[in-house]
Amino acid sequence: ESPAKVIDGKSVAKQIREEIAVEISRMKDAIGVVPGLAVILVGDRKDSATYVRNKKKACESVGINSYEMHLPDNSTEEEVLHSITRFNEDPSVHGILVQLPLPSHMNEEKILNAVGIEKDVDGFHPLNIGRLAMRGRDPLFVPCTPKGCIELLHRYGIQIKGKKAVVLGRSNIVGMPAALLLQREDATVTIVHSRTKNAEDIIKQADIIISAVGQAHMVRGSWIKPGAVIIDVGINPVEDPNSPRGYRLVGDVCYEEAIKVASAVTPVPGGVGPMTIAMLLSNTLSSAKRVYNFH
Ligand code: NDP
Repeated sequence: ESPAKVIDGKSVAKQIREEIAVEISRMKDAIGVVPGLAVILVGDRKDSATYVRNKKKACESVGINSYEMHLPDNSTEEEVLHSITRFNEDPSVHGILVQLPLPSHMNEEKILNAVGIEKDVDGFHPLNIGRLAMRGRDPLFVPCTPKGCIELLHRYGIQIKGKKAVVLGRSNIVGMPAALLLQREDATVTIVHSRTKNAEDIIKQADIIISAVGQAHMVRGSWIKPGAVIIDVGINPVEDPNSPRGYRLVGDVCYEEAIKVASAVTPVPGGVGPMTIAMLLSNTLSSAKRVYNFH
């Protein structure tokens, strides 16, 4: 058997960013408008600050204006809601993103509901998720990480229609919307979660696996049907004395084993991760295009 194809999310994401940059300059030349993304960060979590910084950098690299509102950890819910309202009303802002997790004293549901549905570039508003789940309806935005997974399948010419797909995980931000998207693409979808019995047997049936559990190396090579396609969303630190940081990042799927059985696999890092930010930029661009009816 030949080893699996490596699905290179990093280079696909780079290509998508280049396409977005071209579209943004075309829009600027034609109608003098530049898309804008507002990011609201509450508190001092280092990881959140890093994500926000990377998103801002990515915006700059394609020509999207970015606006940041950084509120202290002890802010009130009203203060966060107030900045959301301001961005909702600001015509230079086409996308609003609230960096999660919020401090524990805040009601995440209430805050995410306040983001205007037409600026909900994360796709987390219940109206967008609801439309994603309904036949004959279209959400204005699809959540970035699962959208990036499907985009990888498309760009690698992998057929989804009629295939058996298994999604591992059912979170609001990855697993659940990934399952809905696969179903919209005419796959037959099974969801595996922490209460599933015989996960291994179910996973073995899959032509396409999207894994978002957050458990290092949970899926072994022997769990994979020969020729299956694997999209590994998991990002898990494992101890590694050879690394300068003392750890390295691995996926939910045992890559070294999977590469011998599957037909295509995403690496971690360098697979789904870079696609998430590319999809955020893409959602922001399409939001601005929608406002000005620019095609
Ligand atoms: P959550 O913790 O919100 O959800 C994990 C899901 O996995 C839950 O549905 C849980 O089941 C299920 N699960 C946990 N353990 C098992 C198990 N042993 N067997 C089967 N199912 C299990 O995580 P997220 O969805 O937010 O993230 C998942 C992973 O993806 C993480 O590693 C995260 O770092 C990564 N991630 C990567 C992104 C990227 O850009 N590449 C973006 C977002 C996340 P239950 O519902 O029953 O509790």
